[in-house]
Amino acid sequence: MTLDIAHNLASLRARIAQAEQRAGRAPGSVKLIAVSKFHPLSAVQEAIAAGQTCFGENRVQEAKEKFLSLRQTNPALEVHLIGPLQTNKAAEAVRLFDVIQTLDRASLAQALAKAMRATGKRPRLYVEVNLGREAQKAGVLPEALDDFLRRCRDEEGLEVEGLMCIPPHQEDPAPHFATLRAMAERLALPNVSMGMSDDFETAIRQGATQVRVGTALFGARPYS
Ligand SMILES: *Cc1c(COP(=O)(O)O)cnc(C)c1O
Repeated sequence: MTLDIAHNLASLRARIAQAEQRAGRAPGSVKLIAVSKFHPLSAVQEAIAAGQTCFGENRVQEAKEKFLSLRQTNPALEVHLIGPLQTNKAAEAVRLFDVIQTLDRASLAQALAKAMRATGKRPRLYVEVNLGREAQKAGVLPEALDDFLRRCRDEEGLEVEGLMCIPPHQEDPAPHFATLRAMAERLALPNVSMGMSDDFETAIRQGATQVRVGTALFGARPYS
C-alpha cells in the first residue's frame, strides 16, 4: 500500500508537470490537492511521507478526525474543505480548514464572517459555481455570481480568492472549465479549482491553478 500511494503520487506529479508544459504553463503553477475523503488516516500518512502537504476533505467531522492530530506533527499541512458546508458547522470549519472552497450562499457567507470575527482565523475562500445549473448540485448560478461576490465583500467583509466547480457528469468538461476560467479572469480572481482524477489534464489545459484528485492517488474509495 505504501508503495502504491508513493508511486501514484509520483506518476500524478509527472502527469501534472507534462500537462503544465503542454499548456505552456509555468512548471509548478498547478497545485495538487489530494482528496482523502473516505480514505483512512494511514493513507493520508503515506501521502505525507511521500511529500504531499495539501489535502481535500468533504466533511467537517471526517477532516477533524484525521487532520487535528496530524497537524501537531506536520505544521506545513494545508487542508481544504471541498464538500458542502452546513451553516451550523461554519465555526468548526473556520477553526479547522486553511481553505474553504464551497462558499455558495449568503447565509453561509454570514456565518463564516461571524465565525472569523469570533476566532480571529481567516481561511481562504473560494466560491463554488454551479456551471451546469444542476438542481441537485451546490453552487452559485453563473448569473448570480457578480452580485454574490459583491455581497460577500461589501456586506460581510469576506475576500474571495478563487472559483471552484464540478461540471455535469455526462458532459465534456472542457467548455465548463473554460467558462470558469473566464469568469475568474473577468472578476480578477487569481485561483481556479477544477479537475478531478478523470479530467485534471483537461482542466490544466483550460487554466486550472489547482486540481482535486482522489481516486488516481488513493485508489477507489471504500464506501462504508
Ligand atoms: C471526491 C471529490 C474529488 C476527487 O474525485 P476523484 O474522481 O476521486 O479524483 C474532487 N472534488 C470534489 C469536490 C470531490 O467531492
